[in-house]
Amino acid sequence: MIMKKRLSLIALMTGLTGALMHPPLGAQTSMDTHSEPAIFSDQDLGVADQLRTQGLQGNGGFDVVEELTTLIGPRLAGSPADAKAVEWAKNYLENAGFDRVWLEPATFPTWHRNMEKATITAPIEREMVTLALGFSPATPAGGVEAEVVMLDDYEALEAVDASEVEGKIIFVRNRMERARDGSGYGPAVRARSLGARIAAEKGAVAYVIRSIGTSTNRFAHTGSQRFDVGVRSLPAVAISNPDADQLERVMGLGEPVSMHIEVDAEFIEAYTSHNVIAEITGSKYPEQVVAIGAHLDSWDVGTGALDDGAGIGIVTEAGRLINALDQRPDRSIHIIFFAAEEIGLWGGRAWAEKNKDNFHNIQVGAESDFGAGPIYEMTAHVSDEAKPVIRAIHQQLEPLGIAFGGWGGWGGPDFRPAGAYGLATIDLRQDGGNYFDYHHTENDTLDKIDPANMVQNATAYAVLAWLAAQSPVSFGSGPENMRQ
Ligand SMILES: [Zn+2]
Repeated sequence: MIMKKRLSLIALMTGLTGALMHPPLGAQTSMDTHSEPAIFSDQDLGVADQLRTQGLQGNGGFDVVEELTTLIGPRLAGSPADAKAVEWAKNYLENAGFDRVWLEPATFPTWHRNMEKATITAPIEREMVTLALGFSPATPAGGVEAEVVMLDDYEALEAVDASEVEGKIIFVRNRMERARDGSGYGPAVRARSLGARIAAEKGAVAYVIRSIGTSTNRFAHTGSQRFDVGVRSLPAVAISNPDADQLERVMGLGEPVSMHIEVDAEFIEAYTSHNVIAEITGSKYPEQVVAIGAHLDSWDVGTGALDDGAGIGIVTEAGRLINALDQRPDRSIHIIFFAAEEIGLWGGRAWAEKNKDNFHNIQVGAESDFGAGPIYEMTAHVSDEAKPVIRAIHQQLEPLGIAFGGWGGWGGPDFRPAGAYGLATIDLRQDGGNYFDYHHTENDTLDKIDPANMVQNATAYAVLAWLAAQSPVSFGSGPENMRQ
């Protein structure tokens, strides 16, 4: 089966010859004896075929992520680079010739890193490679020094008695497991997103975690913590995996271990950035929208190439491929660059709020935000009526090596807030086996992207967006599709 898929992909990549010799995949012909009524017209399937061919001959949007990471680089939401990125994006999409480009505001609290330092001070001295976690408060000037209490994971932190950690530095050592679908992230990341506030409640003075990431390199992985005004937290840092190994070994010596932690960082109460949206205007139902997206912001380390410059390139290229067709899609297609995903899905929340009375007109949402690995599977959350259409779309993605993964998914982080308003979603799930080696580190740079994988991704998004826009039925977004 895999062999057959590979061969089909090679056939597509060798050019048009094969495609011209056969009717488009999935097209119904008069020779079919047991066929159900065709879902898509031969013409729409022919365009899907053309998009596959042209997509595979393109660069997958690599030029886009190359320009973004070279000219802008890291672009933490609310930083001066965020504003530059928004301006760059607007110009880029306008120059790409989309029918309409505009900005929609998103306002959020944010945070700025000045410095961080984590050192074992006893029984040996060793400086650790570290990054403060998003929304970490500063330590008092000069830092804090205290004995370290090591805990296995988030559950152990919840369970520990305050008397054991009062006045201490808590170190949570849980290790993220590697998995193609990224499923090791969820269980591990609670220690990052919620740990420091629990440590604060129990009277600790600082909070240290093993990086939430799979790398064995000496890079710390930063990331956001849940932030609520008025909830007390602690200075919080992640140390690199090899440094966490070292700290565990030192703890294993059986002597009291002390660390010194220093963080300098600032809160910014309210900053307004923007979602940047480009439209290919639909010819029949311009008010109905197929939304494909990625997030424009990144962490303040590395250059945000995999997270999520790659996604920005992928959806831009998908849009360019459709925009270059001789015809317009029936429904409009929106290419959305979301603001401020990393620090709390603020662009996605703003988009959901803005559309809250309009979701019956949003055909579907699909976001690319899992690096630049190949897509191996498609899942969908749609109405029952739309399920045969999803199957028919999947047939057109199968030659790209994409399996059908069943019903479910949320369409990506920035479409998650829209789930509460009933957005229908499609997930094109990428192989993320090595995504968390680089995620939120200084090492998330352009060289980690294989352009060939971006080509497969962008081609899949183009075929998906085109057919979703031509679907004979609504995918069922709206109040009856709400979920929490
Ligand atoms: Zn991301």
